[in-house]
Amino acid sequence: MTTHAALAERFGTPLYVYDLDKVTEGRRALFAALPEGFELFYAFKANPHPDVARALREGDGEGGACRAEISSTGELTAALEAGFAAGECLYTGPGKTDAELDDAVVRGVRLFSVESHTDLRHVGAAALRHGAADVRALLRINSATGSATTSIRMTGRPSQFGIDSETLPALMPQLLAVPGVRVVGAHLFTMSNAKNEDALVEELRHAVELAARLEREAGLPIELLDIGGGFSSPYAVPGTRARYDKLRTELEGILDLHLPRWRDGSITLACESGRYLAGESGSLLTGVVNVKESRGSRFVILDAGINAVGGLSGLGRLLPAAVGVDGEDLDETGSLVGPLCTPGDLLGRDIALPALAPGDVVTVPNVGAYGVTASLLAFLGRPAPTEVAFRGDRIVSVSRIDYRRVHEPLEGTDR
Ligand SMILES: *Cc1c(COP(=O)(O)O)cnc(C)c1O
Repeated sequence: MTTHAALAERFGTPLYVYDLDKVTEGRRALFAALPEGFELFYAFKANPHPDVARALREGDGEGGACRAEISSTGELTAALEAGFAAGECLYTGPGKTDAELDDAVVRGVRLFSVESHTDLRHVGAAALRHGAADVRALLRINSATGSATTSIRMTGRPSQFGIDSETLPALMPQLLAVPGVRVVGAHLFTMSNAKNEDALVEELRHAVELAARLEREAGLPIELLDIGGGFSSPYAVPGTRARYDKLRTELEGILDLHLPRWRDGSITLACESGRYLAGESGSLLTGVVNVKESRGSRFVILDAGINAVGGLSGLGRLLPAAVGVDGEDLDETGSLVGPLCTPGDLLGRDIALPALAPGDVVTVPNVGAYGVTASLLAFLGRPAPTEVAFRGDRIVSVSRIDYRRVHEPLEGTDR
């Protein structure tokens, strides 16, 4: 039995459950929405759970296998453990240290997204230190202009991400001359969670146009072009991932116009996603510990709060103001709070709720991405939520992140 009630009964709460069939559906849906031949990078930061990642690694007749977009030594380990080859990974991020680069190159990563001239030099130096002759880099671009439709922009303004596009023509000769690494293309990621299909298409159109222009005007080589994403999926509220009925045709038209040689396969094209692939697969089951009234307001106190879900709420763009819950009759109102000793442990203020009593289990839907590892796990010292992955009727794994060894004494400690 893999109903939520049965799982909560068996494994206790708080409990994350991942339906791996939904991960597979997300993978197939996104490959189907993209033109033939597109590659898809799974952003490990969304959820590094080994079974979720493995489900994205496994291609089938209906859609290809994802590659891994990773940004740390830990995410590289997670990707390798989930069955990705190091050669299938794209290593990104604005703060890659020499130690991380050494580790990545030694373990076989050969493709990096670089955010500056110095970042590229660091990658080249790591390749030379380890005699890796085939290390390649994508230049992440911070576009000077954006498509007008985007609400959440990571480009067009000063940023730790990407090389300012207007500086590329002057900088390109130096970038192409960096020893140890070959520049093979561009990486754009300008938007998360596009508000609708038109906004998404415009953003991707802008990415393709810009890359084509930089190839023409700045001599940027384009063998591999990662145009980013922005594929949308609800977070912690009921709903389903967006459907993209015209994206494929629109993108084909955009590519035909700006990079027509994509048809002969001389350019590898890629997109990336975290939430669209994994978001719908996960639910958080959390138990009601207490229900109390205070001055006319109801507080439903759960055994999971921002230590288990939504710890990124400081970055409002990643979260709605409040979670929603799955239920039949949402005819009561109350605030959902967690067990932590801070008024900040609020999952939803005055939201629609079913009638709840201690011992009941509440389901927060659509938290397969940005759940456990995006939360304040160590804050106030509760164990991490248990995580169960299932496919159909079969439980594939039950596990829990152990973060509690954070104060293991390191060498040089007196005590
Ligand atoms: C976070 C991130 C993603 C994934 O974003 P989603 O909104 O989850 O699809 C993809 N690419 C890069 C570079 C990112 O930083």
